[in-house]
Amino acid sequence: MLTGISRRLQPVFGSSRPVLPFTTSGTGGLEVAAGNVIAPGDEVVAVTIGYFGDRFADVAAGFGAAVSRLQVPWGEAAAPDALRRLLRRRRAVKAVLLTHNETATGAVNPLPELAAVVHQESAALLLVDVVSSVGGMPVEVDRHGIDIAVGVTQKALMSPPGLALVAVSDRALRVAAANPGSRWSLDLVRMAESVDAGTTSYTPAVTVLFALDAALAEIESEGLAAVFERHRTLAGRLRAGLANLGVVVRAEPGCRSDTVTAVRIPGPGATAAAVRRRLADHGIAVSAGREDWHADTIRIGHLGWVSEPDIDDLLAALTEIGKDWT
Ligand SMILES: *Cc1c(COP(=O)(O)O)cnc(C)c1O
Repeated sequence: MLTGISRRLQPVFGSSRPVLPFTTSGTGGLEVAAGNVIAPGDEVVAVTIGYFGDRFADVAAGFGAAVSRLQVPWGEAAAPDALRRLLRRRRAVKAVLLTHNETATGAVNPLPELAAVVHQESAALLLVDVVSSVGGMPVEVDRHGIDIAVGVTQKALMSPPGLALVAVSDRALRVAAANPGSRWSLDLVRMAESVDAGTTSYTPAVTVLFALDAALAEIESEGLAAVFERHRTLAGRLRAGLANLGVVVRAEPGCRSDTVTAVRIPGPGATAAAVRRRLADHGIAVSAGREDWHADTIRIGHLGWVSEPDIDDLLAALTEIGKDWT
């Protein structure tokens, strides 16, 4: 089953190598990426468009990297030219860190364009957090020259938490093998060798593998292209409904995610906490905003096992709650 899952994840990640399951959270997966290729003192460029981009940068700094941040205002995507300018001012960048889909803001980065800039302007490894995109939006590890892509089971892959799913290039494995930096149970090369031998380096979250096996069967029977199309259509349906309610989608037009939408609740008649409580009465769970967006923003997940009635039920509930906003 393990070998099957590693292989069946390949089209989901667009990777020609088996995808590696590490028993850890998504953040642990970011630690796999940074810890295996970064040694203390290495120059790293981190493109951050929000909370999770900051976290990836912090993880790299935790492994001793000298991190230069391209900090983009929340709600926006990174501009390829801004990354180009930053890379031209830096020499010997070991790795560039990107977030594909920023779950805190609902903004999605132009991954193909940013990846092209990284490869044009540097020889850096490209490490990408695809935690909240993979399985819901196209991710093309090989095509875009991504060296390490980190996903998880508990988002668009519809399974419980417990596994970070890591796609890796041959180049990243070579760099990892030569890297003296710290890591032990999250060693990339040892895991790649183990998976090639049909096992994992240490005891895996077996129960989660069973769930993922079933989730992949769902995705395969729907068809990956149809899964992506469903996410795109549902995101559009949600935004169209929200436009009628006077709430503000916080990601800029042109970079709005297919998997998560952050919206500002118009005050003063409601707060995000009050809206979340009232949605809970309808049996609907949404997340609060992060950091500065905590008080006035809710985040609606529409990824994985989600369909039109889910979106319509949410819109109907928000319509009722929204009568008190004005
Ligand atoms: C959820 C998430 C993470 C963290 O995953 P955990 O499993 O909670 O550690 C990292 N990056 C992004 C973009 C996420 O959405």
